[in-house]
Amino acid sequence: MDVDWVAVAVAGVTGTIAIVIAYASYRASARSADASETSAVASKDSAKEAAKLTQIESQRRQDEREDRHELLAPALPREIETTLEQGSISGHKSLFANVVVTSPRNYRAHVVGWTGTSMVPVSGLDLQVLGQRMYKLHIEHWAADQEAPHVKELRFKFWPPMGVDESNPWSCACGRPTSEDTERLGHWEIRLPVERPRRPRIRILSP
Ligand SMILES: [Zn+2]
Repeated sequence: MDVDWVAVAVAGVTGTIAIVIAYASYRASARSADASETSAVASKDSAKEAAKLTQIESQRRQDEREDRHELLAPALPREIETTLEQGSISGHKSLFANVVVTSPRNYRAHVVGWTGTSMVPVSGLDLQVLGQRMYKLHIEHWAADQEAPHVKELRFKFWPPMGVDESNPWSCACGRPTSEDTERLGHWEIRLPVERPRRPRIRILSP
C-alpha cells in the first residue's frame, strides 16, 4: 500500500493548527468572561460604597438633629427646693417650689407630681412657659403633722412652642412629639426629685 506521506504530514499540520485555533478561541472567551465578571464585581463594589456614604451622611444629619435637640432642651434646676407657706387667712400650709427655666426661649409645658403610686396635679406652671422667668409651683397641701412631701418627684413635659403668634418662634426637627396635648409624650421629659422643705433660717441677732 502506498502511503502518501506528504498528505499525512499536511493532515497532521492542519490538525495541529485546528487545535491551536480552538485553544486560542477558548482563551479569548475565557478572558471575556473574566472581564465581565470583574466589571460586575466593580459595579457591585461601587454600589456598596455609595450605599455606605449615604448611610454615613444620613447618620451625620441625624447626629446634627440630636445635637440641636440637646441644645434646645429646657434648662431646669437639678432638684426642686421647696418651702412651706402658711395661708394668712386659712392658716393651712402648702408646699411650694420656685422653678426657673433658665433657657433663653419659650416652651409649651406641663407638670404633674408623682407620689410613687399616682400622679397628682401641680399648679403654677403656664402652658406657655417663658424662658428665664420664675414660676411658683403649688405642689401639695401640707397637713399639720406632715413631715415629708407626698410628692416624690415633679414630671415635666416640654414641647417647642406652636402657633403663629409666638414672639420667638423656633422648632426642633428631631422627630419627637410636637403636640400640645398634655396627655401625650413630651418632646422633652424631665423628672426632678422634690426635696423636703427647707427649715426656716433662725436669724441670730448680734447684741
Ligand atoms: Zn427635638
